Amino acid sequence: MKETILEMEKYAKEYNVPIMEKESIKFIMNYIKLNNVKKILEIGTAIGYSGILMVSAAEGVELTTIERDEKRYMEAVKNVKKCGLEKQIEIVFQDAHEVNLIGRSYDLILIDAAKAQNIKFFEKFSHYLNPNGVIICDNINFHGLVGNRDDTMSKNLNSLVAKIEDFIVFLKSNKEYTTKFYDKGDGLSVSYKNKDE
Ligand code: SAH
Ligand code: MG
Repeated sequence: MKETILEMEKYAKEYNVPIMEKESIKFIMNYIKLNNVKKILEIGTAIGYSGILMVSAAEGVELTTIERDEKRYMEAVKNVKKCGLEKQIEIVFQDAHEVNLIGRSYDLILIDAAKAQNIKFFEKFSHYLNPNGVIICDNINFHGLVGNRDDTMSKNLNSLVAKIEDFIVFLKSNKEYTTKFYDKGDGLSVSYKNKDE
């Protein structure tokens, strides 16, 4: 397991797979332990790195994780097998926009897919959140570019960062959820559903 994790880190570097930074995944693993998280949904599996670590954070954790890229999906399947976690990790090879999870619910939802789609994913998957659950999003600082856009950036990058800034505004102004932002790794948001009064 430890060796597979190291191999995945090496693979990610070599093939430019944007796996989560150590500080961020440690923060999430700690959250899982402290809050008795059992069911997790992840949007954006990549090669299974964050998924495998989340499931290893505590006993009895189960994960459903979604990936649309075939090569990465195949890599993730291989890595999950290597760690003997096939029973705890279900990898769905599909575009997250098309996935239907009716009847399911989760204690933690990790959104770590296409950053321009964060609002859409938040709105779609928040319906599957348990009452005391949280929605965590990665790359909220996007390499320090969020809040620091300028004209030297390419148009694509500028519009991507602008979408992350829109997402932050969306979270801050959301009346149903309270969000805390953490400067861990590339930046995390943690959103809790407000209790009805
Ligand atoms: N959570 C992973 C890293 C995910 S990288 C880790 O830390 O180990 C983001 C992944 O999201 C990419 O592999 C990309 O293919 C996938 N992705 C992006 N948009 C998606 C979508 N609409 N549906 C499913 N997967 C998506
Ligand atoms: Mg990420």
